[in-house]
Amino acid sequence: MDGDELVEHLRFARDLGVEGFSRDPAWRARPDAMAPEGEPDGATPPSAVLTLRLSQTLEEVRSDIGDCTRCKLHQLGRRQIVFGVGNPAAQLMFVGEAPGADEDLQGVPFVGRAGQLLTRIIEAIGLKREEVYIANVIKCRPPQNRNPEPDEVATCEPFLFRQVDIIKPRVIVALGTFAARTLLGTTDPISRLRGRVYEYRGAKLVPTFHPAYLLRNPASKRDVWEDMKLVRRLLGN
Ligand code: URA
Repeated sequence: MDGDELVEHLRFARDLGVEGFSRDPAWRARPDAMAPEGEPDGATPPSAVLTLRLSQTLEEVRSDIGDCTRCKLHQLGRRQIVFGVGNPAAQLMFVGEAPGADEDLQGVPFVGRAGQLLTRIIEAIGLKREEVYIANVIKCRPPQNRNPEPDEVATCEPFLFRQVDIIKPRVIVALGTFAARTLLGTTDPISRLRGRVYEYRGAKLVPTFHPAYLLRNPASKRDVWEDMKLVRRLLGN
């Protein structure tokens, strides 16, 4: 890694909430696995061990994203970043693929036709849209709604990780093949992935069909209903 790459790497880590670096193995632990600052016995951590911020807010993550130019999507026609919407303490989170045209215009995920169907799906399990949190794997609209490319996902996904770690939902629903494959790190099709529960960053992850797919294939609504009943059970409702 040359000097410029190192600077870029450090800047990227800072954007992820990392404050400083250390060779100490304890430094690699997740924030909630670390001792709270200000030890009761007054012990001071070694000055070389710089800590991760223990608590962050969604506002901080949004502000770290800024007017993002980290990947090529900022030059490919996106109007604005579509961060996420909903209850920051939601027990249930939905993760889609990427903003489409309507979302790019309004700056809010899932507001087009597929979004309206998602709202009805949420209401079908007795919740209001404002009670859940909705985000996408990537925050900028890809041109012509093409699938996000690997470098775009690699750049943007850490911000989703931070959203998940702050919200700490009990259940995450991955909407569609792209989101399910990305979150689970697999190339299996959604038809194979759905119907089961996976562990993901401390949450139960339930893959299901994307609402845009349901608009084209209404017969699959029955499967989504089964998945939503599973979600309801996992939430204990
Ligand atoms: N499809 C997605 O995956 N996300 C949106 O926000 C809208 C449509």
